[in-house]
Amino acid sequence: MEKALMVRGENYATKEKKARRCNRCILPLGYPGLSFDKSGVCNFCKAYDLAVRTRNYEVSRRALARILDKHRGRSRNYDCVIGMSGGKDSTYVLYLLSEVFHMRVLAVHFDNGFVSPYAKRNLEKVVAKLGVGFITVRHDWPTMREMYKMFLRRAGEFCTPCNVGISIPILKFAMEEGVRLVFSGVSRILDVASPRMYASKYLDRCYFLNVINGQIPRDMLHGRFLQSWMEILRRATSHVMWLKLPDYVEWDIKNIRKILRREFGWEEDPNGKFHADCMASDIKDYLVYRRWGFSDVTAKLAALVRDRQLTRQEALERVKSEEANKEPDFLDDFLNKIGISRTEFENSIDKTHTRIPNCRECWWFGSFSLAKRLFKRA
Ligand SMILES: [Zn+2]
Repeated sequence: MEKALMVRGENYATKEKKARRCNRCILPLGYPGLSFDKSGVCNFCKAYDLAVRTRNYEVSRRALARILDKHRGRSRNYDCVIGMSGGKDSTYVLYLLSEVFHMRVLAVHFDNGFVSPYAKRNLEKVVAKLGVGFITVRHDWPTMREMYKMFLRRAGEFCTPCNVGISIPILKFAMEEGVRLVFSGVSRILDVASPRMYASKYLDRCYFLNVINGQIPRDMLHGRFLQSWMEILRRATSHVMWLKLPDYVEWDIKNIRKILRREFGWEEDPNGKFHADCMASDIKDYLVYRRWGFSDVTAKLAALVRDRQLTRQEALERVKSEEANKEPDFLDDFLNKIGISRTEFENSIDKTHTRIPNCRECWWFGSFSLAKRLFKRA
């Protein structure tokens, strides 16, 4: 991993490299971890084929129904908890669980200070119509600001504070309410197209603490960004299940948009962006583009082609206009808000989370793996 960035020039997708793309999806040569077979089809397309070979929505819907039946009415107020960004995926999760499967849902929204006005308006409409339990989590801005700064400076990314800052409260609310089901709209097929070099592992305690490096007192982090060992033990024994709803039901983006417009008068993002719920996501994409020569936009469009939700030609057209190769208008405001200079932002392009030690490299994970191996041998 270290080597990958030391030779940034080689990895960076040059024009020549980008000219050669997978014959089936649109991933370009130079994409991290990509290789082609003799017919010019990439390994990501092969992995997709393997993943969908056993896909059968009739069977998975029945499995989902069994899980929901088991948990319905089990605790006093709610049957399940979801994280709600205000984007189309989480809104569709809420719609399905509440309206179609008749679950009592507690929706937890994280206001990170960058929620787009468009997402806010959609959220209000949806929550008012469905009348579900709704909690907005806001962590104090000085702590968030400090974290965004630290992650950008040291790890070249700033999404972990939000991902952790929503996940820990979701688990906390689920456990307080005695709910064992947590749902997300993350799709194995459509979202996990990003290689590890793009995104850090979100709930990696060691990675998180190594970036923070003792600069923020632990008591400021507990309950919001960190769980104590006692809480982790309680979580492990309380059997909270974290499920991805797209693993069980069809996730057709065009159809989802149609349903949301029909049900809630859903407002589309005028620029048709993938993550229009967070204004900082453009900056994340731009940063990744500057580092690798393409961003999640290409990865996401390729995933849609693979899943036959877009034609290859449509995706190639969209890459031209949507890839994050232009500096976002919001960049200066964002940098001012978190207190980072232009120079520091430019320097962060050469940083990467893969250089920060994570749980896989720490002593207790090592001991755990060793114990597992010894146990297996015995
Ligand atoms: Zn491909």
